[in-house]
Amino acid sequence: MTNQKQSLFKKIPSVDRLLMSPGLKDISSSYPRSLVLNAIHQVLDELRIYIQKGKISKVSELSLESVSGQVAERLKEISRPSLRPVINATGVIVHTNLGRSVLAESVLKKFRPLAGGYSNLEYNLDQGKRGSRYTHVESILKELTSAEAAMVVNNNAAAVLISLETLAKGREVVVSRGQLVEIGGSFRIPAVMQKSGAKMVEVGATNKTHLWDYEEVIGPETALLLKVHTSNYQIVGFTEEVPLTGLVELGKRYTIPVMEDLGSGCLVDFSKYGLVKEPTVKETLDQGADLVTFSGDKLLGGPQAGIILGRKDVVEAIKKNPLNRALRIDKLTLLALEETLRMYRDESAVLREIPTLRMICQPYKSLAKKAERLLKLVGKMKTANFSLELADGNSRPGGGALPLSELPSRLLCMVPGKLSCQFMETWLRSYDPPVIGRVEKETVLLDVRTIQDRELKVVADAIRKLAKMK
Ligand SMILES: *Cc1c(COP(=O)(O)O)cnc(C)c1O
Repeated sequence: MTNQKQSLFKKIPSVDRLLMSPGLKDISSSYPRSLVLNAIHQVLDELRIYIQKGKISKVSELSLESVSGQVAERLKEISRPSLRPVINATGVIVHTNLGRSVLAESVLKKFRPLAGGYSNLEYNLDQGKRGSRYTHVESILKELTSAEAAMVVNNNAAAVLISLETLAKGREVVVSRGQLVEIGGSFRIPAVMQKSGAKMVEVGATNKTHLWDYEEVIGPETALLLKVHTSNYQIVGFTEEVPLTGLVELGKRYTIPVMEDLGSGCLVDFSKYGLVKEPTVKETLDQGADLVTFSGDKLLGGPQAGIILGRKDVVEAIKKNPLNRALRIDKLTLLALEETLRMYRDESAVLREIPTLRMICQPYKSLAKKAERLLKLVGKMKTANFSLELADGNSRPGGGALPLSELPSRLLCMVPGKLSCQFMETWLRSYDPPVIGRVEKETVLLDVRTIQDRELKVVADAIRKLAKMK
């Protein structure tokens, strides 16, 4: 080792000196001692490595002030919770990586009393006996969809798994080759089918499947006809899919149940609000599906959950499946789901008060006003770092829902000056709270559709800080 490195090593402040340093003395009392020591050791270890690698060559970089400052910064970092709020400025409403649906205010109000105390989760108050957790959402689900029976599990992947396991383990399930969906990496119809123990019988071609394709493979081992909503893609051009009614008619003829995995599962007909027509859950059941499954946190706008609706005998069999215990819904989810569903009794309230639906239906005009407001909150800036302008663009429903829908929106564009696009994107992402935008054509775009009203000021503050940066 060179003499220079050796003398630098000797200049690293000791743990004791750091503990007593003005930069740390006061703040360290508000953290557990083990965490303070942990932060000190992390920083000191890194300094040693930097000296070794020649990345530190000046004594000033090892001053007590500088090192204690780094420790204080590290302390803040390691004591921060891992799960943190972020501002979604991507314009993707049901953003899988950012927690999908935002819960409604009235749902949040239920958390304190129900999660902070005991409840009748599995207790029948009339009889003073053990009850079932499913009762809390069963009747409202039946009321909203006219389903004969209902139950809920942890998420829609679990709903599909347990439905297949119950109805078709060791037997055959017929599904179109055009519907072998993959959702976000880990959920793939063929893989879930395999885990359920059912044997998948693929029929048709990628672009076209006919009714006779299904009929041809029906045999004594056929347990289920499955239709899967192609939530996140669409096959266009020379295509044909068998409508649910066709499958239902076929299933009736051979007494084989028909299931549809709806994915998103709308309870509201979005075509009334200018969006692409998606079959609602009620329409799907009315068409005769024996079983329907969908997510709680996609277009429904509630918590992560899997909802299973359909024929009473089938739903009862699923409830009794021992697998259910492993997939069962948690009480926090259940309370959020019950409250979200109750809001659906009033459709206009749903569009006003469930954030996912409100954001989907927010008209361009009001978004343009919101963007103006954001620009005004930023105010006049004198900076060469970047410039700001408003532009038209599109938001997306996301979350494997309404795959081709683009919702016209208004965006705040940060056009690079001295700062690069990449730098601005990273800086905003490491802001507290992180602001997640999207990068297109060398500009950082902030879509106001997914920025909550109360967050506009925070975003404006972040932009102003970035403008002042030297
Ligand atoms: C999203 C989706 C799933 C998985 O639902 P999760 O709630 O994410 O488990 C399954 N099938 C389809 C068609 C979907 O769109």
